[in-house]
Amino acid sequence: MRTLVLDSTYFPVRIVTWQKAMILLFTGRAEIVTEYDERKIRGVSHTFSLPKILRLYSRHKSSKLVRFSRHNIFWRDNFTCQYCHNKFSASQLTLDHVLPQSRGGKNSWENVVSACSPCNTKKSDKLPHEARMKLLKKPVRPKWSPQICLRLKKDDPEEWFQWFSLKSA
Ligand SMILES: [Zn+2]
Repeated sequence: MRTLVLDSTYFPVRIVTWQKAMILLFTGRAEIVTEYDERKIRGVSHTFSLPKILRLYSRHKSSKLVRFSRHNIFWRDNFTCQYCHNKFSASQLTLDHVLPQSRGGKNSWENVVSACSPCNTKKSDKLPHEARMKLLKKPVRPKWSPQICLRLKKDDPEEWFQWFSLKSA
């Protein structure tokens, strides 16, 4: 069971375990927005419903920056190799440095893209044009999105998806 945490402005900031959600609640840092009706836990003197969505009393500004990570690069690129345009699972994808690290290329949103192993091997320590390869699109830092930042799973509560209006996406 997981709980979606919003900040005071109803901006989704993270997903936590129900245990962490209870701590936020009991230490007076958050209030319940909705609960899981069907899930209850028994305390010493009360029975609690598990929170499905919590709202923090504070505001979290820093969460609007997307964290640079392997997983998030794959999300940004829609699990698509940026050279051959085919889709892969995360385990089949690698990270390619457009300007190779051996030539001073940085580990950054603007220089790292998703690539399948054959394309990565083919590109090696060359620039795309030197390897006669073309990038699908220019790599940029992605805007904050729940898919990238919160790692939503397909079996998460439908209500969360409604919250992000992902259904229409
Ligand atoms: Zn490829």
